[in-house]
Formats: sequence, C-alpha cells, structure tokens
Amino acid sequence: MANRGFCFFEPLVPNSWCHVTNRKVLTMIVNMSDGATEQQIEHIIQRIREAGFQPHVTRGTERTIVAAVGSGGRRHEIEALSVAPGVDNVVAIAQPFKLVSRQTHPQPSVVVVGGKTTHGKTTGGVSIGGPEVVVIAGPCSVESREQLLETAQGVKRAGATMLRGGAYKPRTSPYEFQGLGIEALKILREARELTGLPVVTEVMSTEDLDLICEHADMLQVGARNMQNYALLRRLATAKKPILLKRGPSASVKEWLLAAEYLLSGGNDQVVLCERGIKTFETGMRNTFDLAAVALAKELSHLPVVADPSHGTGKQSLIGAVSRAAVAVGADGLIIEVHPCPERALSDGPQSLDLAQFERVMRGLSAPLRPVVAPLLA
Ligand code: PEP
Ligand code: MN
Repeated sequence: MANRGFCFFEPLVPNSWCHVTNRKVLTMIVNMSDGATEQQIEHIIQRIREAGFQPHVTRGTERTIVAAVGSGGRRHEIEALSVAPGVDNVVAIAQPFKLVSRQTHPQPSVVVVGGKTTHGKTTGGVSIGGPEVVVIAGPCSVESREQLLETAQGVKRAGATMLRGGAYKPRTSPYEFQGLGIEALKILREARELTGLPVVTEVMSTEDLDLICEHADMLQVGARNMQNYALLRRLATAKKPILLKRGPSASVKEWLLAAEYLLSGGNDQVVLCERGIKTFETGMRNTFDLAAVALAKELSHLPVVADPSHGTGKQSLIGAVSRAAVAVGADGLIIEVHPCPERALSDGPQSLDLAQFERVMRGLSAPLRPVVAPLLA
C-alpha cells in the first residue's frame, strides 16, 4: 500500500491451506519504542522468524510495529521480546482478522489503482483512502461501445476519477443479460485509454482472472462471491487491487475475514465496499448499512467505499446516501450511471442518468469532507 513503503509482506499460507485449518493463527504485536533503532527493529524481525512466525512490519510516522503472524510458532519467545532493547510492549491481537485489523496497522492504508510501480515506488493512479473522496461511476453492465464511451466521458466531466462497468454479470435469473464478457473488457480498455480513468470490473470465476487482469485496473469481488474462498485465494495472488463487496447477509466480521483471505494470501491492496444488506425492509432493494462503514473503518485500516446504488436500489436516494456515507468516513463511492437508465439491461431503476449524476456530484462538493475528515482522524 502507498503508506506501507517499508512493509514486507510474505503470504502466510501460499500453498498449504490445509495447514492452518486445524491450528490457531496467532498474531502478536511488538510495539517498538519511539526511539528504536533500525538495528533493534531488524533484531526483532529476526527473532520473530526464529520463533517460527512471519514478521509483518509497519512503520508509522512516530513508531514502528512488528506483527508476528502464523501458527505453530513458539509464543513464549515472542512474549519474551517485551524486554528486548527498543521494545515498548508486546500484545496479542484477539480479533480473528489479524492483518486487516487496525491494531496491526494503526494508520489508514491507501490503495493506489492504475498507477505504475517501478522499484517499489508507485506513481500516478487514483489513491483510495487518502484525503480525497474517490468517485467510481459507470454502468452496471457494459452494453455497447457507444453506451460505455458516452458514460465514461460524461462521468469524467462530472468529476468521477474511476470508471466501473460489468463484463461478467452475476444475475439472479439465468434468463437475464449475463454481460458481454471479453467484448466488454475490450470496450472498458478503450474507455480507459480515451479518458484516463482506471477501470474496475467484476471477476466471477477464477477461469476469467488472467484475461480480466489484462484489461482492468481493479478487480471487483461481487457481494454474492464474498465468501467464495477459492476465488479469494486466487485473487490473493493477483497483482491488482481488489474491491471486496460485503455479502448481502454477511456480518462485518465475516466481511473482514473475507478480506483477511486476501491479505494473508499476499494481496494487501484491498478496498472494502458496503453495498447494503438484506433486512425485513421492502421499500428498498437492500438496506444500506451506514454504521457498518464507520465500524469497518474503526476495526480495519483498509479503505472503505460505499455503493448507494445497490445499497438502496433507488435513483432518488443516491444523493442523500452518498453524502451520509462520506459524512461517516467513506473513502469513496461507487455509483451506477447509464446514459438512458430506462433502457439499461441491468439495474436501470437504480442508475442515474448523466444529468442526475452531475447533480449528485455537486451535492458532494459542498464542504462536507474538510469538515468531517479532521473528526475522523
Ligand atoms: C454490481 O456492482 O453491479 C453488482 C452486481 O454488485 P453486487 O455484487 O453488490 O450486487
Ligand atoms: Mn449493478
């Protein structure tokens, strides 16, 4: 991640998943003192390895934290590090999600989408989790070249900095439009070249992953696939950032554990997305769980974006829910936009046309973020 310049990240369980199923994964945090030297930090890293754990280093502006993660190591050796030179204290992480937890990484993470990385340094791209609220906009499905290019140019004009568009669609009915597949991927790529907007699209199956990676900048895990662990394990090895939607019936803990699959498998470029959950409410497609945005930010260092389109299913609510999400700390929004929602092949009732999207964007440019951001720090 951008603010994890020094973090080194070894997959916890790259090939041998069965390994961890019957052994409890432990995470202990070694908090270094303010004045800890490089040599003292290196010593702790070395000792963690010797004790049979994997070290995971986070260097904050003031102090460094070294997490010892893994199963089967010698816990008492880590506990004993509390008296090593340069160590302030050693604490155990009780939460089941370890690498995703704020305790392991107190500063919020920034995920860069579409940047270029050379020699470990990322330049360009869109930063999610920084001071700016990132707006990702575009159609639910890519339906044609004209439809996508018109939408991409329109949302860019209105201030969006990323483009969304489904190529492989998870539809409730097998008789509904399933997406244009590879043809849509090519159109998404053309739209990115035309506008410079990085592109996010959904991956439904491990089979499509390599192809999608050639065309997209960010991979969406749809709500229905949040607990598809085979998919998550494969995505953990992908060299692309992931937008992980919360499952419609998943608790926040389950959602963060799904993210833990990605981080523990080696991909720490993860953005969480709240998109509404199933409740007894019938007036909206889903119930947008505003507090879950704040809770996920509290429990985790990962950026969180809000999806008011699927969260409400109603055009008329997108503006209000977008502002509310930003007010509780969302790092971004993902909004469905279609040049003619009444003709959309999927999710028309919740899609904004370009004029409506522009109005929502104007509502967001009110001085909401500067007022709220200092309170959230
Ligand atoms: C989508 O983004 O169009 C989509 C299908 O989202 P979700 O997985 O949240 O239903
Ligand atoms: Mn949709």
